[in-house]
Order: sequence, then structure tokens, then C-alpha cells
Amino acid sequence: MPAPSSRPSTRPAPTHDAWVARDADVLWHGFTQMAAYADNRPVVVDRAEGREVIDVEGRRYLDAISSLWVTTLGHRVPELDAALRDQLDRVAHTTLLGNGNVAAIELGEALARVVPVDDPRTLFASDGAAAVEQALKIAFQHWTNQGITTRTTYLAFGEAYHGDTVGTLSVGDGGFGTDVFDPLRFPCRRTPGLDRPGAVEAATSAIATHASSLAAVVVEPLVQGAAGIRPHPPEALRAVAEACRAHDVLLVADEVATGFGRTGTLFACEQAGVRPDLLCLGKGLTGGYLPMAATVAAGPVHRAFLGEDLSERTLYHGHSFSGNALCAAVARRHLELIEEWDVLANVRARAAQLAAGLDARVAGLPGVAAARHQGLMAGIELDPPADGLRWGRRVSAACVERGVLIRPLGDVVVVVPPLTTTEDEVERILDVLVAAVTEVCA
Ligand SMILES: *Cc1c(COP(=O)(O)O)cnc(C)c1O
Repeated sequence: MPAPSSRPSTRPAPTHDAWVARDADVLWHGFTQMAAYADNRPVVVDRAEGREVIDVEGRRYLDAISSLWVTTLGHRVPELDAALRDQLDRVAHTTLLGNGNVAAIELGEALARVVPVDDPRTLFASDGAAAVEQALKIAFQHWTNQGITTRTTYLAFGEAYHGDTVGTLSVGDGGFGTDVFDPLRFPCRRTPGLDRPGAVEAATSAIATHASSLAAVVVEPLVQGAAGIRPHPPEALRAVAEACRAHDVLLVADEVATGFGRTGTLFACEQAGVRPDLLCLGKGLTGGYLPMAATVAAGPVHRAFLGEDLSERTLYHGHSFSGNALCAAVARRHLELIEEWDVLANVRARAAQLAAGLDARVAGLPGVAAARHQGLMAGIELDPPADGLRWGRRVSAACVERGVLIRPLGDVVVVVPPLTTTEDEVERILDVLVAAVTEVCA
């Protein structure tokens, strides 16, 4: 990739402001007020190198949010680029509805070796929300296929986030401006998030009491990400899983955010010794390269769908791009690289460094209420003295000005660096956080 100055074009390259204007003329960004988009100084990326993204004027930013938690090994990883190019020479996409493709089969085999699910069967989709949506429908039909029609609801947790489709919004809790959709949400049982006092007791007794109406319990294992990075102890997750087993309720583990090493193990469930009935994967599945998600069902769940051809026991659900071969080839190479590069060892070392740095240097700063962390996910909760100060937004902007790309969740500044992040980069993130918080909140 030539440097901007060596481009053969005779016209001057459009400036940042021109790109933002073109953008706002034609695009609609998710979770973004478009009337304010340009004023919030968005970064417009032209390309990337390693863990840095480079904007249209050549400025570099450390990608400390992993492009919204999806990038694992970094950008433009030669091995992943090669896997994608090689697959292009075979085929880009063919349907998995009623037919197979080699790339998807090989990925299914690779996943089967590592997922914490018994006798796993994988149904692919393209986004995390679709993976959770599939799990909800599979859990429900798994019961109706056995003639049990009373298990029509789910137990989910306070502040849960499972995606933005109507079904996943329903198991998710309110907030994020989604309350407008309340009339569309189907009802769910909800007990407090597992980091709250008394939450385990509330969840396990709700499971015991309401088992006969519950298709499944839906949980984000070890950390509720979108809630503002709220970790809970593995024992809490284990207690919920044990209650599910004891009362014959399915357990859906939404590892869309935590899967593929984010918490220091390949899957967060492993740290609790939990083997869910349905496991939802997304975000990091292709290393953050391509949109691919998956719902992994345990053998007994899958078996409830076996029956005569064209019978009602079939799962009548499937997305156009399910099992896309380009995605599958990259995802499979990505799994190999996690092992070949011993990525999890780096995650654990860098997570310990980040945790120690946050505790020592950030948690005690004026204006900071708490610094929470789980693996390479951290949330610095700010405590503004009044409403409307937009501290989360302003601290993040102050980080971006200093070359570290950060995006807040309300007044929680979220740090989710790539899994291959280095010791120096973690120090740089900490330095920039301290400077940004001090500038805005002092
Ligand atoms: C991001 C996320 C989702 C939704 O995934 P999309 O790919 O954005 O649809 C679901 N669950 C969790 C825990 C997530 O973090």
C-alpha cells in the first residue's frame, strides 16, 4: 500500500472533512445520531496495519476497541489474508440449505474439537444477534418437538445484551435508547445481573420455580459486555448452569463477545467448567475479518429435531449466507493461529498488566467511580457530578486525539484491545486514559 504522498493521482486527496460530508450524505451509522455525526469528529479509516488503523489523512490510531470487539489478532494478518485469497480461488459462497461446502465442513470439525459443548452441531449465521435468535428458536422448538408446549419463555438477566433484532432485544434488558421498542418485545423472566448481590439465589430460585415454563436461560458468561463490562465470578455462572441441569432447563451461553480468547480462555464457560446446551458465537469467530456467527447445539438438543424428511421436527430457519466459504476459511485459519501463536498466554499476561495498571493508576482518579476488567475487556465507569456533561463521549474523544481509538458505552469508557496487543501498547493505552480522564474530569 503506497503512502498517501506517493499516490499517482494528480488531484489532491479529499480531506477528512470532505469524507465525513460524503459519508453523512449517503450512510446511516448504527447507534449514531446522524445529525451530530460530523460534529463528533468520527475517524474515517482508509486502511490499517497491525493493531493501528490509519485515517484518510494518514493519522494513526491504536485500535483499542478492536473495531467494536471483533478484531483478535490485528488487522491485515498475512496468514488470514492468505486464507481468504486461497478460498477465493475455490469458491466464495454456496448455500448450506440442503447442501454442503468443504470450507464450512472443515470449520465445523475444527470448532467441534474446541467448543465446550457435548457432541456439537453448528448452525452458521452472519451476525451475533442472528446466532442468539437461532438459539432462542432452537431451544423453543426442542421442547415442542417433544410434545412440550408450555416452555414458551426465557430467563435472562438484568442489563443483559444479546443483539438488536426483536427477539434478541426481548431477552436483552432495556437501555441504550431501545425502550421505544418495548411494545415489540416478547415477555421474559428477568433476575438481576450475576454481578449483583443476591443474584445467584434469585436466578436459581426462579429457575426452580418456573422451570416448567422456561425454554432456556440465556446468559453472557463471565462478563456482561454491553452493560459496561460487568464481570461476575465463575461460581455464579456454575450455580446457574447447575440449576438448569437440575430442573431440565436449557442453558444458552451467549459468547458472542467473550468467545475466541477474550477472557483468557478460548471460551469463558471453560473457566466455570460449564458446558451449555447452546453456545452462540460471533464477533471474533473470523478474527474480526468477515461477518460470521454460529449457534452450536449439544447433541441431545440436535437429536430432538431428527425425524422424517419434510416433517415438522425440522428446524425451518436458515440465513442466505450461512456457512459462507470465505468466512469459514478465514475462521478456520484463525483458530489455528490462536494456537500456533499461543495467543491465550498473551491475553492472560496483558490482561494482568491492564488490570494492575487500571487499579493503580485509573481507578483512583477524580471522576472515576470504578474500573472493571475481565481478560482483555475493561470498563472505566465515570461519575459525572451532573447530567448532560457527556464525560464518556469527551474522555473517549480526548483518547482519540491522543491516537488511541476508544468508544464509550454511556459514561463507561470501554477498552477492548486486540488479543495480540503488546506490553508497550497496554502502557500507551493506560497513559492516554490517565491523561484523557484528567483533562476532562479533573
Ligand atoms: C455484540 C453482541 C451481540 C450481537 O452481535 P452482532 O454481531 O452485533 O449482532 C450479541 N451478544 C453479545 C454478548 C454481544 O456482545
